Amino acid sequence: MRLHRAKARLAARSARRAATATNFQATSYELSVVEQAGFAAAAGCDVIFSCVDRPWPRAVLNLLAYTHLIPVVDGGIAVDARGGRLRGAEWRAHIAAPGRACMECLGQYDPAHVQAERDGSLDDPAYITGLPADHPLRRKENVFVFSNSAAAAQLNQFITMTTAPGGVADTGAHLYHLTTATLDHREDGCDTGCPYDSMLRALGDDAPVTVTGRHRSAEQTRAARTRAVRRWPLRRCAPSTTLCTDSDEITQSGSIGRIPPWPPGPRDQR
Ligand SMILES: [Zn+2]
Repeated sequence: MRLHRAKARLAARSARRAATATNFQATSYELSVVEQAGFAAAAGCDVIFSCVDRPWPRAVLNLLAYTHLIPVVDGGIAVDARGGRLRGAEWRAHIAAPGRACMECLGQYDPAHVQAERDGSLDDPAYITGLPADHPLRRKENVFVFSNSAAAAQLNQFITMTTAPGGVADTGAHLYHLTTATLDHREDGCDTGCPYDSMLRALGDDAPVTVTGRHRSAEQTRAARTRAVRRWPLRRCAPSTTLCTDSDEITQSGSIGRIPPWPPGPRDQR
């Protein structure tokens, strides 16, 4: 059964439940960072954790890191499962920030793929099908088992940057190889000629680059979720009812929530 809940709202709810600070607050934005409103929200952050998969949002975050001087803690996983066998896996963790190599120089995204995503090609099944089977944009490996390692590596980068253990705040970009159990470090900055940590640095909103635009896939996903939620019946229940606490909005407002029919009907068993 699909519950049609935005990941942003679930993440905010989980953060509130796990928070230990007294006045912790979490605000969710059901937006893509490539959309103008999402970009504006991200530009107001002190630190950004990047968990995106596609090249366009990575390119936007890369720009934010250098033009707006907002450190972006990024990570990624690559699995080599050619022939249906696990041949290797790697995960990266690094911080895009002035003085450090940017995500484009680290090879985290290909600028050519950014345009392909902007013009909708990455959402065109014919375009994807035409790519080689081992192309990064076609790979569909289940990387869940490595996700915790990648997330932990990102948190290590963040802790090192903010607390500087032993006086060291930058240990470089990390790339871990599962096959050999070795960790590569890249401690130099951007490649020669890279514009991010040179001509674009600290330009803020004056950067002569337009990276935002309409994201039709995001718009369609939001619209589909809204339509699906409207189909759920409204049910009045007590604030202490277990079902109602499934949504922070419901909990805070007291008593009215949207609850899916239970047991689910045939339409919901997808
Ligand atoms: Zn660079």
